[in-house]
Amino acid sequence: MSRRSAALALIVLIAVVPVLPGVPAFWISLANYIGLAALVALGLVLLTGVGGMTSFGQAAFVGFGAYTTAVLTTALAWSPWLALPVALLVTALAALIIGLVTLRLSGHYLPLGTIAWGIAIYYVFGNMKTLGGYDGIPGIPALSIGPWSLLDQRVSYYLIWLIVLGAMVLTANLLDSRIGRAIRALRSGAQAAESFGVDTARTKLIAFVYAAVLAGLSGWLYAHVQRAVSPSSFGLNAGIEYLLMAVTGGVGNLIGAVIGAAVVTILKDQLQNLLPLLFRGTGNYETIVFGILLVALLQIARGGIWSLIEPYLPARARPAPDVLASATATEAASVPLAPVAAGSRQDTAPLLSADVIRKVFGGLVAVNDVSFDVRPGEIVGLIGPNGAGKSTTFNLLTGVTHLTAGGVRFAGEGVEGLPSRAVARRGIARTFQHVKLIPDMSVLDNVVLGSHIHGKAGVVSAMLRLDRAEEARLLGDAREQLKRVGMADAADKPAGSLALGQSRVVEIARALCLRPRLLMLDEPAAGLRHLEKQNLAELLRRLKAGGISILLVEHDMDFVMGLTDHIVVLDFGTKIAEGSPAEIQVDPAVLEAYLGGIE
Ligand code: ADP
Ligand code: MG
Repeated sequence: MSRRSAALALIVLIAVVPVLPGVPAFWISLANYIGLAALVALGLVLLTGVGGMTSFGQAAFVGFGAYTTAVLTTALAWSPWLALPVALLVTALAALIIGLVTLRLSGHYLPLGTIAWGIAIYYVFGNMKTLGGYDGIPGIPALSIGPWSLLDQRVSYYLIWLIVLGAMVLTANLLDSRIGRAIRALRSGAQAAESFGVDTARTKLIAFVYAAVLAGLSGWLYAHVQRAVSPSSFGLNAGIEYLLMAVTGGVGNLIGAVIGAAVVTILKDQLQNLLPLLFRGTGNYETIVFGILLVALLQIARGGIWSLIEPYLPARARPAPDVLASATATEAASVPLAPVAAGSRQDTAPLLSADVIRKVFGGLVAVNDVSFDVRPGEIVGLIGPNGAGKSTTFNLLTGVTHLTAGGVRFAGEGVEGLPSRAVARRGIARTFQHVKLIPDMSVLDNVVLGSHIHGKAGVVSAMLRLDRAEEARLLGDAREQLKRVGMADAADKPAGSLALGQSRVVEIARALCLRPRLLMLDEPAAGLRHLEKQNLAELLRRLKAGGISILLVEHDMDFVMGLTDHIVVLDFGTKIAEGSPAEIQVDPAVLEAYLGGIE
């Protein structure tokens, strides 16, 4: 049985449950609450599980959706269907404002921030007279579709689960797209994503608003199913429960949202009956039990219940590689051809100029007023002992680290002060000394991140699958680049399974997807075996012949001397020599720095 037919079986099961004879009405009602919660948990899977942003405040967004429709359909007597877009818009706007303020928080401060506004919004709902204070708003009309009133639990069951399934499909589509890759890169690869043109702050906001809109949709449904709203459903307790659902089910997986919602909702219902009998009294004992369960689950199965089930399911069907590749063996020759340096270096205008660049970390001058050029079609080596400031120089040139002083010109334009994503858009692609691939994403998905700036598809076209032609083009190009570096076979492996040397080569493929004019490689040959180094040198020569200029940090002197046209030597942050490989090999200052002096 394939995954597709497993999913179909699930859908059929959901469809027939309420019409089976003898199913108690109470079950149906429980299933409805599971569906409502699953919508919120689905948003959290995207936000927390995939994007790495933990939110305890999701219940507040359910509240925005619920209260908006409650007010519009009671005080103003709107139709619930008319109130739906307004409810979603209000929720989205609230999320936009809250997100703009809180998403800049990093580390543990973000979850703390969500707790803060989660509590605050609860009191706002409770203290507003127009919203009925802590008693809330009663008498909300039920939904109806033509002649069918959705007063009947069985009818609302179908509506709720249809919406849940729809939301799952749209969310799955979104994750499997250009924006989805950017969201998946947020958790462990934000810096790399920025270096390939992704606006990570904006991407975070997209995920945040998307998750909030799903919560608002759940709130709208909830208001018309419950037919009354009050603040207690939208407080911090509820927010914690939603997060618990996402974690229980398996925080990185969409089906996990449904599983988690089901497990937590059913368990809460059972515990509310059972615990008061055990403890002889009233109180929210289920919160304590939930806490213990959460800890236990994280000990046994970090990936949640889904991770326990998944190994028993058939493997995910993958599109045949050739289909994608052949669909799109595109204009790989659109790399701008630059004149190859000939004769004197000084004859050509530089492509990149570092102009007295300086970086001070605290008291340490890591890069000390260094200047050098890379000319079109050249391979320039940047060498020096460990700690000489080579990687810092790379970061300064690419906008990853801010300059203390100095300027950087690329293709005739000052690029100092630009964020790294803007530098990328101008045609500089790079690799990192400490490899920055996203380990749980496939090699291909990692590589195609490099072509982010060559796509346009946004959230809506991704959700509706209108981006398929563009996706095929980008994926095809990524496969081409993988083939170019000799890693085509690894395309579908998780990036985390590669050896270090292979990861470095995959990073080169990712950089090539940007179609750079300048390729900057930080220790590309480290971890490669002899033959692999020869292949790499061959590849770099071919890239150079194709018009790409290369700036290269490397420790292997044979590799550097045999490959480069020009070498810049740093020591303790200062440029101590510059010249052709032949000149550098006999330069006394260089020998001094490397060998500690010669007689
Ligand atoms: P290289 O790549 O040549 O080995 P780096 O550029 O990584 O050298 O480092 C140069 C110096 O700057 C080192 O002394 C290093 O400890 C220091 N350094 C690098 N990054 C930082 C940072 N973010 N904060 C403080 N010091 C740093
Ligand atoms: Mg370094």
